[in-house]
Amino acid sequence: MSNWEHILYEEPAEGIARIVLNRPATLNAQDTQFLYELNDAYDRATQDERIKVIITAANGKHFSSGHDLRERDHLETQDKYKPVTNATGYRRDGAEGRQAREEEIYTGFCERWRNIPKPTIAAVQGRCVAGGLMLCWPSDIIIAADDALFEDVTVMLGIPGVEFFMHPWELGARKAKEMLFAGAQVNAEEARQLGMVNRVVPRDRLEDETLALAVKIAQRPSFALKLAKQAVNNVQDAQGRHAAQTAAFAMHHLAHSHAMEVHGLPVDPGGVHKGVAKNYAPGDEPWRKKA
Ligand code: ZN
Repeated sequence: MSNWEHILYEEPAEGIARIVLNRPATLNAQDTQFLYELNDAYDRATQDERIKVIITAANGKHFSSGHDLRERDHLETQDKYKPVTNATGYRRDGAEGRQAREEEIYTGFCERWRNIPKPTIAAVQGRCVAGGLMLCWPSDIIIAADDALFEDVTVMLGIPGVEFFMHPWELGARKAKEMLFAGAQVNAEEARQLGMVNRVVPRDRLEDETLALAVKIAQRPSFALKLAKQAVNNVQDAQGRHAAQTAAFAMHHLAHSHAMEVHGLPVDPGGVHKGVAKNYAPGDEPWRKKA
């Protein structure tokens, strides 16, 4: 069926697919292969007419530590996969190549996953850092374990937020700013109060409670579920979500270019000294190196 290395695909109940991030040794850090495998898994669940609800879960103590900054062969890996968006020109110099790549594997994937025409539920435990947010925010519903902690550390790296810029929609403008400015960790209960998380459950109940909700949703007619989802997503888009996301993504790339110009790296190494990106070495821009 599939030979994914980092993603498990399960059908824990009739009509339910559970896609499990399964790279716990790196705290489910996302490299190119990981993201394409995850996208493939969503495609499989989307195309399977028996599946009515899709769960995203994670093995290990933490949901995801974000982008895997140790990856050094992005372009070679990317060449193995057919683009799922209109992105092209990953190997071009400067911002052009970098933006094309991120349009594909970050914002492109996240928009696709957000618009899967079936209800999706993310079950989050432990830390969910920066790029990790992009694996739960596209879901329709988020169930958090009581130990969940959400944060975006990118400002320390000179970047104004992760690529899929949903912070104000998820948390409200003020908390979004605190999260970005101060790297504030948002715990599960706070996330619930702010509306980012639907429910908080004990860690050992996360799997069962998520599945129970999925089973309940799966009793409803698929077409009504699809339309209800589309109706709600349309509200955010009518409010300007997509336009705001596109503008924030342009700023994100302005910051990458600024960091390249000033530091010779796509991120500010100030964050490297803080341990945020300790695997970056000055002058080393992994996805341009072999171009
Ligand atoms: Zn980026």
